[in-house]
Amino acid sequence: MRGRLVVGNWKMHGELAATARLLQALKAALTPVEGCAFAVCVPFPYLAQAAEALRGSALAWGAQDLSEHDAGAFTGEVSGNMLRDFACRYAIVGHSERRTLHGETDRTAGAKLGAALRSGLTPIVCVGETLAERERGDTEAVLARQIDALLQAQGVGALARSLLAYEPVWAIGTGHTATPDQAQRAHAFIRGRIAAADAAIAADLSVLYGGSVKSSNARELFSMPDVDGGLIGGASLAAGDFLAICAALSQR
Ligand code: PEP
Repeated sequence: MRGRLVVGNWKMHGELAATARLLQALKAALTPVEGCAFAVCVPFPYLAQAAEALRGSALAWGAQDLSEHDAGAFTGEVSGNMLRDFACRYAIVGHSERRTLHGETDRTAGAKLGAALRSGLTPIVCVGETLAERERGDTEAVLARQIDALLQAQGVGALARSLLAYEPVWAIGTGHTATPDQAQRAHAFIRGRIAAADAAIAADLSVLYGGSVKSSNARELFSMPDVDGGLIGGASLAAGDFLAICAALSQR
């Protein structure tokens, strides 16, 4: 049975005292749930703090990005092996904010997927269409292009050790959540596209939904058959909201 997960993406939020409080509150309240995993992807400077605070807890931690390179003259970049030094389990790859604000492409997502796997990290690869693409009826074409680029870059076997996140760009940080039906259709399409390359890998692949998930809509979204959990931005910054979303996953 494929795993279910809730992963927080803190984005560029936090300062030392507030992150300490948030980590402690999550650690104190979260208990292990069979078949479920919980994690937070924190800004790079807080990885040591997360590792220290969360070791031995039911909450794993990870990063929001990594370099496609393993080492070298790449000023400002952070490698997968550096993330492993802080016992990261996950690295987000190809988030739409990296794509739209930092010029990342399908090619870089494929390269970063490979870099994460080489370092023993579990990549959480984000795909999703913009509002204009959805309105043009291009949602499936965009998802197909993004998935095919991953398959071409790293082969379908890479997805056996990865997670995907369907994150419609129009839903991220906007308060406009995809309906459970819209999410289910996109997730089923993604799974079907991968199944064409390897049905067993597709069946085992966890696909998270991301885009304005809140405690009020999480349960309905997580009840869809191809939605295996969530990637949570804004609502992961308040302990009560994030814990309620984790509880919604546990009760599915
Ligand atoms: C995200 O940043 O991945 C995200 C889903 O953000 P939000 O939940 O705030 O829409």
